[in-house]
Amino acid sequence: MASLTSGAFPPPLTETEKNALVEVVKDWAIANGLAVRSPPAVIPAEADPAGITAVNVPVTLFPSPFPKVCFEQGQAVQQTYNELYAAVSRDEAFLEQTVKEVMDGDDFIRNLWDVHLKVKAEGYTQPLSLGLFRSDYMVHQDSSTSPPSVQAKQVEFNTIAASFGGLSAYTSKLHKFLAATEYPLLQNALAPDSLNLPDNQSIQGLAGGIQAAFHAYPKSELGYAKCVIFLVQGGERNIFDQRHLEYQVTQSSPTIPVFRLAIADILKHTTLANTPKRQLLYHLPRDPSKVFEVAVIYIRSGYHTNDYPDQTAWDARYHLERSGAIKCPSILTQLAGTKKVQQVLATPRPSSEPSVLGKFINDSTPAAAELWKTFTNIYPMDTSEAGLEARKKALDPELCKAYVLKPQREGGGNNIYRSAIPEFLKTLPESHWSAYILMELIVPPPVSNIILRNGHLEEGGIICELGVYGTCLWNQGSGEILHNMGAGYLLRSKGDQSEEGGVAAGYGCMDSVSLV
Ligand code: ADP
Ligand code: MG
Repeated sequence: MASLTSGAFPPPLTETEKNALVEVVKDWAIANGLAVRSPPAVIPAEADPAGITAVNVPVTLFPSPFPKVCFEQGQAVQQTYNELYAAVSRDEAFLEQTVKEVMDGDDFIRNLWDVHLKVKAEGYTQPLSLGLFRSDYMVHQDSSTSPPSVQAKQVEFNTIAASFGGLSAYTSKLHKFLAATEYPLLQNALAPDSLNLPDNQSIQGLAGGIQAAFHAYPKSELGYAKCVIFLVQGGERNIFDQRHLEYQVTQSSPTIPVFRLAIADILKHTTLANTPKRQLLYHLPRDPSKVFEVAVIYIRSGYHTNDYPDQTAWDARYHLERSGAIKCPSILTQLAGTKKVQQVLATPRPSSEPSVLGKFINDSTPAAAELWKTFTNIYPMDTSEAGLEARKKALDPELCKAYVLKPQREGGGNNIYRSAIPEFLKTLPESHWSAYILMELIVPPPVSNIILRNGHLEEGGIICELGVYGTCLWNQGSGEILHNMGAGYLLRSKGDQSEEGGVAAGYGCMDSVSLV
């Protein structure tokens, strides 16, 4: 496959140069909060009983070359994607049909749907809904054209707890700093303005979405101050990523109160007002006489089965969903982010009939045409004609090598790759196969870089994944869109030998783009 750069990238470094760069990156990262709470593998819990230590997040020493056309493609379609997912979230019948196709093999999705039904029966009280979205892409290289052409192809669309917007802005800043101060000093120097490093406003962008929702929520009729809640997992190590957003949300005049609440503590520290609006009230744990009305609940948890250890956890999610707070996301928006929905939306337009996509956005605009280009082949695993065709591919020991099989899960570590697919399917009852989708693997052009992870350098081939953030605030009843913005980007890279790329899961690293 064609390389993205003409010369060697990153530039060959001497050992002394590597050490010098490591010193600079180590300090810059901690000084600027490009960090995570120490993993026990790096600092054992006994050595840090008070939990005061942090280490820099794994990061590349150089920004990775990334095709400018693909970067711009991702930015250009984001607002259309925001609009699309707002519209999908509003189409309950479509979501019901889609969700029902996977429910038999998936209790988690069934439970989410049941919470929605319960709230629907008594009536939702909050018409506004907030999305902090991230659309993930890899570069697909088409070698059949000359020169080979590149396109951004969507890996997945995240509608809940899309992370790293806090750290990615700082990774861009780190690489800009190195480009200005360190790369020009190398023996194979990179001149100060030789790299095209775009600004990354992910923190302001994402916080701006939360602030827009906060301001759209009316003044408390009950006389309380309004607040924003970040609903988090207990023991979160990727906490500074979230903190950067919190700090930015408070940067408003007057200050917006922001509180972190562990998902396990919802029922302990919040109540619902006994009014038709069912306002969500937050009781400050250290002084429960201080009460705030929750305008926005930003959910950075709740996407994983571990977040629901028992029925009480589901009761707590129901308690939030029926409250008057603006949810980011609501259950319907969370369900709009399933891989099944992505597969259905990406279904090619039949020649005569309208596309599924056309139910949600005007399918004849240039923006929709751009959006179509980001889809790759994704197949159902059900008993439809397309599903049976996909089952053949998934079970074939040769054909399966071009695919990834995905369940309706988030957070990394759930997918089944290539040759592992046939055996995996055989362990499942066939009736559960439709809970999965089969996706063609995107094979990006080769890129090399050097990763600084836990004080050690890893050098070699990497695979880059671009995430484009967007924020959208809409009225679930009328469909009116009150706010629709792009919100910066994320580049995550992983060693080209690793299938999964989650930074928090320990395989990936933070990166930024050097546009080529
Ligand atoms: P999750 O919700 O767990 O993040 P993803 O769909 O993002 O699930 O898949 C996890 C990882 O698997 C991605 O970050 C990417 O590295 C890899 N991956 C997923 N789909 C593809 C694909 N179609 N082609 C290549 N790699 C993929
Ligand atoms: Mg992902």
